[in-house]
Amino acid sequence: MQQDQVVSYSFDSGVVGASVLILGAIHGNEKCGSNAIEKIVAQFNDGTLKPLKGKVTFVPICNPAAYKAHQRYMDVNLNRVMKLHDAPDNYEAHLANQIVPLIASHDFTLDLHSIHSKGASFAFLDYPNKMAADICDVLGVKTIFTGWVEMYEDTGDMTTLDCAHKSGKASVTVECGQHEDPDSVKVAEECILNTLQYFGTIAGQVSKTADCQTVHAKHRIVKSSEGALRPLEHMSSVKSGEIIADLDNGEKIIAPEDGVVLIPFKEAQVGDEWLYLGQIIKAA
Ligand SMILES: [Zn+2]
Repeated sequence: MQQDQVVSYSFDSGVVGASVLILGAIHGNEKCGSNAIEKIVAQFNDGTLKPLKGKVTFVPICNPAAYKAHQRYMDVNLNRVMKLHDAPDNYEAHLANQIVPLIASHDFTLDLHSIHSKGASFAFLDYPNKMAADICDVLGVKTIFTGWVEMYEDTGDMTTLDCAHKSGKASVTVECGQHEDPDSVKVAEECILNTLQYFGTIAGQVSKTADCQTVHAKHRIVKSSEGALRPLEHMSSVKSGEIIADLDNGEKIIAPEDGVVLIPFKEAQVGDEWLYLGQIIKAA
C-alpha cells in the first residue's frame, strides 16, 4: 500500500504563546488552503512575516496522493477517519496517524477546505468553545454554521473538528468558496492571517467581521436512490412541504420545515449528501 510523509513547516517565536496549526488539502481537490499556506510560508521564510508570540505550524497538503491526482481522496474520506489507527489498512489511515498528533499538540487548528457549490464562504463552529467562537467572529467569513456535529453524531465519523475536541483543543473548519474560484485562495489567506493576528502570533489587529450571520444546520439529506435535485441555490429559502428532489422511482423528497438550503450537490452519487437544510439563527 502507498504511504506518504505529510510535510509540515513550523515557525516558533521562542516567546510563550498559543500554538496554531493550519491545515490545507485534507481533500486533495481542495487546493485554496494549500496555495494560501504556500504564500504565507514564503513570507515567514523571507522575513516579511515574523513570529512574535507562540508558534505556528503549517501543513499545506494533508493528502499528497489525492492532491497529485486532483481528487477528493484515494481510499477513504480523510475527514471521516481523523483518529489514530492501530493497524492502518488504507492510504488515508496512514495520513491520519501523522495529522492527529499535530492536532493534539496545538492549541488551535484551522482546517481550510473548498466546496462544489457556488456561493459564499462559511465556517463551521461545532463545539461550544469560546476560543473557536471568538475566532469565528474575526475570521472575515460572513456565514457561520453550527449543528454539523449533531447531524453526524450517529455515524462514528471523526473530522478534524472532532479530533481537536477529543484532544481538548479548539478548531474551526472553513469552506473558502467554490473549488476553482480564485477568490477562495484570498479567503483562505485572510482566514490564516486573521487567526494568527487573533493569537498575536504575528503583528496586526483583528476586527469583528461585519454582517456575519449564523446558520444552524438541522437536516442531512442523503441521495437514497437515483433521481434529480430541484434547482436550488446555496442559502436559498425553502418552505415546509416543498419538493426538494424527485427520485426515479416516483418518490419525492420534501422539506420537513421552513428553512434554507445548504451546499446542494447536483452531481452527488447515491449514498452521498445531496444537500442540507438549516435555519438562520442570527441574521446578518
Ligand atoms: Zn473538504
